[in-house]
Amino acid sequence: MKIRIAFLLLIITTLGVQAQTKTENVFIITLDGYRWQELYTGADPALIKNEKYVNDQENLAGLFWREDPIKRREVLMPFFWSTIAKQGQLYGNRAFDNKVNCTNNMWFSYPGYNEILTGFSDDSRINSNDKIDNPNTTLLEFVNKQPGYKGKVAAFGSWDVFPFIINEKRSGIPVNAGFESAAGPGLSDKEVILNELQKEIPSPWGGVRLDAFTHHYAMEYVKKNEPKLVYIAYGETDDFAHGGDYSAYLKSAYRTDQFIEKLWNWVQSNEKYKDKTTFLITTDHGRGTEPLDTWRSHGNKVKGGGEIWFTIIGPDTPAKGEIKKAGQYYQNQVAATVAALLNVPYTNENKIGKKVDEMIEK
Ligand SMILES: [Zn+2]
Repeated sequence: MKIRIAFLLLIITTLGVQAQTKTENVFIITLDGYRWQELYTGADPALIKNEKYVNDQENLAGLFWREDPIKRREVLMPFFWSTIAKQGQLYGNRAFDNKVNCTNNMWFSYPGYNEILTGFSDDSRINSNDKIDNPNTTLLEFVNKQPGYKGKVAAFGSWDVFPFIINEKRSGIPVNAGFESAAGPGLSDKEVILNELQKEIPSPWGGVRLDAFTHHYAMEYVKKNEPKLVYIAYGETDDFAHGGDYSAYLKSAYRTDQFIEKLWNWVQSNEKYKDKTTFLITTDHGRGTEPLDTWRSHGNKVKGGGEIWFTIIGPDTPAKGEIKKAGQYYQNQVAATVAALLNVPYTNENKIGKKVDEMIEK
């Protein structure tokens, strides 16, 4: 009898440790350098009415200007505020002393993406945006080696440095980024057209393509290969901001919101993914506000460059909406949260950030 009780206790303890989650698939999604200020208050009054940054004021005001900041944020990112705010959680609104920050002190892209994807900052080695293969193992690479995940991890990015951040060579994870075409046997009709258009519709930038390509390549791949862990990195917001084009920055944020909505609706209409999939959406770094022109830039000389946000929606996440409690969260918590959702025992030789407990129902 005593043995039976001990055995029972052992089972209960084991179950307690391996908490079951409903999530079987995770999409990590990033919007490069998209400010928490626009996410939480919509178009910035100091910028949207400024001729220096907006060349179509009347048109832009019609699209995105409303006196009330709550209405303003809703017209800018309708999916975030109609669906994620009702069914998921949003972190990082400083108006409520709710903060999400980078732990890296670089406040630009590679260090931010390294921190998101590995769960730790590495300022001594990851301190430029150069195309250097990441010496660190990302969560993506770790998961790709777990039983049942081989070939079920994929990444898509607008920026051509992602194959290096994810270390495509070593990790074996397919990364379609920069101006890469869809490759391999059995291309869909859409992929064939995307490959053609990508050559015919030039991007304004050298190393970053337009996000519509990244989005549709990702969608086509997901439909065909049914991956369980997907990373999609949209890039336009950062590049339009650097260029000082506030109109294009806002329109891009709006389009990205729509991309994510379409992806979510597809996921929720597909038996393989429906009610088993979590989206975790965040950004690599913040941007400035003061002096005004620093909205265009970031890096550790720019105040606010380390201020970020994250949002989540999925079957394990209690619907708490916008988190209005004071709190401090970090970029290095994303990897552990995703690992916990997928029930994979992610560890690393480095100390990784803790999962965000509030994101996962016990
Ligand atoms: Zn940038």
